[in-house]
Amino acid sequence: MSKLRFRVVETAFKKRAVEVPIPAEPVSEYFGKYVFNRTKMFKYLPSKVYQKLTDAIDNGEALDRDIADTVAEGMKKWAMELGVTHYTHWFQPLTEGTAEKHDAFIEHDGNGGVIEEFSGKLLVQQESDASSFPNGGIRNTFEARGYSAWDPSSPAFIVDDTLYIPTIFFTYTGESLDYKAPLLKSLRAVNKAATDVCHYFDPEVKKVYTYLGWEQEYFLVDEGLYAARPDLLMTGRTLMGHDSAKNQQLDDHYFGSIPDRVAAFMKDLEIEALKLGIPLKTRHNEVAPNQFELAPIYEECNLANDHNLQIMSIMRRVSRRHGFRVLLHEKPFKGVNGSGKHNNWSLGTDTGVLLMAPGKTPEENLRFVSFLVNTLMAVYHHNGLLKASIITASNAHRLGANEAPPAIISCFLGKSISDLLNHIEQNDNDSLTIAGKQGMKLDIPSIPALLIDNTDRNRTSPFAFTGNRFEFRAVGSEANCASAMIALNTAVADQLAQFKKEVDGLIAEGNDKTSALLTVIRRYIKECKPIHFDGNGYSDEWKEEARRRGLDCETKAPLIYDNYLKPETIAMFERAGVMTKVELEARNEVKWETYTKKIQIESRVLGDLALNHIIPVATEYQTCLINNVYKLKSIMPDEAEELSSRNKELIRDISQHTSYIKKRVDEMIAARKVANRITDEREKAIAYHDTVFPMLDEIRYHIDKLELIVDNEMWTLPKYRELLFIR
Ligand code: ADP
Ligand code: MG
Repeated sequence: MSKLRFRVVETAFKKRAVEVPIPAEPVSEYFGKYVFNRTKMFKYLPSKVYQKLTDAIDNGEALDRDIADTVAEGMKKWAMELGVTHYTHWFQPLTEGTAEKHDAFIEHDGNGGVIEEFSGKLLVQQESDASSFPNGGIRNTFEARGYSAWDPSSPAFIVDDTLYIPTIFFTYTGESLDYKAPLLKSLRAVNKAATDVCHYFDPEVKKVYTYLGWEQEYFLVDEGLYAARPDLLMTGRTLMGHDSAKNQQLDDHYFGSIPDRVAAFMKDLEIEALKLGIPLKTRHNEVAPNQFELAPIYEECNLANDHNLQIMSIMRRVSRRHGFRVLLHEKPFKGVNGSGKHNNWSLGTDTGVLLMAPGKTPEENLRFVSFLVNTLMAVYHHNGLLKASIITASNAHRLGANEAPPAIISCFLGKSISDLLNHIEQNDNDSLTIAGKQGMKLDIPSIPALLIDNTDRNRTSPFAFTGNRFEFRAVGSEANCASAMIALNTAVADQLAQFKKEVDGLIAEGNDKTSALLTVIRRYIKECKPIHFDGNGYSDEWKEEARRRGLDCETKAPLIYDNYLKPETIAMFERAGVMTKVELEARNEVKWETYTKKIQIESRVLGDLALNHIIPVATEYQTCLINNVYKLKSIMPDEAEELSSRNKELIRDISQHTSYIKKRVDEMIAARKVANRITDEREKAIAYHDTVFPMLDEIRYHIDKLELIVDNEMWTLPKYRELLFIR
């Protein structure tokens, strides 16, 4: 019975690092080799077309069709020189992954042969069946058309023999069914609102970029062990498994030396990523055994997000070459840290200024404080929404456990920024001695110098200021970053627009610009205080305190999603032109449905494993014990009572655990049946959360007890000590 487990463990243990061919040339030479970037555009497009295309990318100018034909021709020529035969529109449906359908370049040539063709029409737009993707009921099957449309702001790239064209995905009636379209709209909204605010400080600013630098955490598991764990294979996490005696207690994995097999995987992954223009920079061991992290240099948000989606798919592919499977699930193992994806977010101008970085002059610092305080206001007023943007059935395991931010969104600022805000708040206009533009004396302590003293980190904060950016740490490792970025960008854009309105109002009343800015900023500092928390986010006192402050403390994912449909939230998304009520409602349907399905699948897998792996093995071991008791009695009738007492106890324990498991699995099936009859997706998700989900852990508890009792030789499933420590 246990042969499979021992074979896979032994095989995994013996594996050695795979040799990775390292390119002879330096990275700078092969970086972006498979990307249709500006260098390639310049080379493969006529200069007028190049000009128009880069104009469209930089300034959002509309592209006309004949340009598209020439661009398509240039792309095809470049791609074919690299052996490409197919192309695909690549988009981001409301699942965790991406979607693609490959078509060959070939067309009939009219003489019985074929020629390679790729027209502007095919580049710009394609039609597909929207009803087969999550659509929240927007698509009736009788009008199931969906369209993908080229996003010129993210460059096409090549994987294997296929040219990938990043696209948005929407319905026949124009509602978005993806992450990219609303992300682009939210970036446009931030650009507009932030540029307007920048003009208080520099009229030359033409554009504000949103930057994203994601840090991706993940686990690696040997593929043999993975294959022997149906729960990992089907749900991405272990639904059972007793803690191994050693896990992360010694803090000996974080930043430890990277194991050879893993280092080979990382190198291989990095080379592929760099060729795709993904600027990977950082790699290290994470806290949990077999947990790692990688991070690129930050980029413009839309591109950074495409790159993150690409990296997740490259990781899946490359890990197989090294005999690993990558786990992107937020909580693959109970009892050790889960995985997140920290989203480092900031704004910067086309004139090269990072708006979230303190400056050197009072004027620069006033600009910095404007953007900082508006971000705090946005996070404060939409803390529930931001939580809704990151919560999923899988990320819910992570939040609130003692390893990740709690299920309450708050902002960490650190001592120097907190002092700075207090200082501004407490000094009234007089003491700031604002004497006209030139003479403005904004008595702000030298922030850059102070920041160096204050590089304190707060791992417990879900939204931490880290010197020149905010780090949204609650994002899940498996998530599309766009979900969080759409909510954050829209909230900040809306807030900045409000700020501008208020400041302009004061200026119109005759106040000078600086005092108008300071007056509003001061009011905001007071107003958004409840979101500012530098203490320990893991503590129970914080939960109490947060409730008193009126922050969203809801922990049930299906209810957290309600934040998207609050009237003020819908109004905000509509004002910013990011999403309509119909789109928001449809997306929530998808969120509830996905939540239900995830728990449903976990419940089925656990039920099956309990009945056909765990109970049979436990019963077999119990039979061995029973035989032993009988035989003891026959050879040593006088002492048998005493000698077999331990075994009898185990026999009883096993019976108790197995009958509990059987009973609970039956109840879980019944609970699913009840929940499945509910037609309202929200109600169904709540039922799954309240009735089915808790049983998973209750059943698991007894299975994990059995794992400790049953003969190790008989246990079929690889154990935590094997999954987490073989590398
Ligand atoms: P840490 O683990 O210390 O938080 P990492 O080096 O792992 O930091 O990752 C930090 C991420 O933040 C990187 O992707 C980095 O490029 C990014 N980053 C740095 N500055 C900014 C910024 N101004 N805006 C957005 N992202 C940034
Ligand atoms: Mg890091």
